[in-house]
Amino acid sequence: MIQFVDLKKQWALHETNIRARMDTVLAHGKFIMGPEIAELESTLAGYVGAAHCVSCSSGTDALLMSLMAIGVGPGDAVFTSPFTFIATSEVISLLGATPVFVDVNPVTLNIDSAALERAILALRDNSPKDYPLPRTEEALKPKAVIPVDIFGIPADYDSINAVAERHGLCVVEDAAQSFGAEFKGRKACSLAPFAATSFFPAKPLGCFGDGGAVFTDNADTAVVLKSIRVHGQGGNKYDNVRIGLNARLDTLQAAVLLAKMDFFPAEVESRQRVAAQYSEALDGVVETPVVPSDCLSAWAQYSVRHESRDDIIVKLREKGVPAMVYYPRPLHLLGAYAHLAYQEGDLPVCESVSKTIFSLPMHPYLTQEDTIFIAECVKDALKA
Ligand SMILES: *Cc1c(COP(=O)(O)O)cnc(C)c1O
Repeated sequence: MIQFVDLKKQWALHETNIRARMDTVLAHGKFIMGPEIAELESTLAGYVGAAHCVSCSSGTDALLMSLMAIGVGPGDAVFTSPFTFIATSEVISLLGATPVFVDVNPVTLNIDSAALERAILALRDNSPKDYPLPRTEEALKPKAVIPVDIFGIPADYDSINAVAERHGLCVVEDAAQSFGAEFKGRKACSLAPFAATSFFPAKPLGCFGDGGAVFTDNADTAVVLKSIRVHGQGGNKYDNVRIGLNARLDTLQAAVLLAKMDFFPAEVESRQRVAAQYSEALDGVVETPVVPSDCLSAWAQYSVRHESRDDIIVKLREKGVPAMVYYPRPLHLLGAYAHLAYQEGDLPVCESVSKTIFSLPMHPYLTQEDTIFIAECVKDALKA
């Protein structure tokens, strides 16, 4: 039976080492901020090439903590992609700020940096005819941008960081899907002043529950993030200097992640093999994903496009092949954002992509037999 993400296979292969790490925690009993937390943070920072890693309770909280550290609040505009999971924009709204959705590049499906600049200028000039803007009562101040490395492919940080710098915006990389990916020889999670990732079990590096981390090169920022993580604590637990969260990562989850980091690079390699096998077998059958030549994808998802998507998915499922749609509806058209009064047609690229895209099973333990079988099922679905 082919799994969409095969966590049982990974457990079967690595149970001994993961259990040993977890047993250590059960023995020392420091379940909150135990020694594995600092060890994990230093391992992860070293892996991605960032000066500081602040682990936390989820990818959503990693994004939230980043925006809190920047000081995002009411009256601020935060530009982001409409083609992502709701968590990316939810944290903007939670802080009372307003998401401004910017359409994606049709190839990478990541935020389009030229459109980003047009949206910033349209907002500055209060000119929605130049770029579709959210409807708000007061004028908004451009504050930050959250590019998303969707499906594991890094966004174009050279141009995004340049646009952000020209307009004084802070950049938060949403690397929830791209841990292990590379952009021009640098690792995802090191591509912007803030980077947020997720260790949700099905992400490229997953723990056994919820988890996440923020990365930054700035030592002062890391101190602020660590304070936000624990109720805004200052010098000690009962000296609270700001409003914060309870957003710590469990020591047990850190232990699981430490054990998994031993084989994570090999899993990223295997994902490259699986993706290459898919792309070869599906060339000319469906629109296969294109990774820019200077990037390496973490292959959180292997997503293809075809007009007959819904039929293909039904026929794949009949043969026991799970397929999923990420994402059936772009964020600007969701009910949660009805108050922003975006219209269908405002962001045509993501709207059209959401009608044809679907994701095939993707994990490091798919064999060539599996990928060929899945590709044959896709071809058969199109013949019928
Ligand atoms: C999974 C995901 C998140 C949220 O991560 P959680 O750990 O589930 O909170 C945020 N952004 C993107 C793009 C994601 O895929």
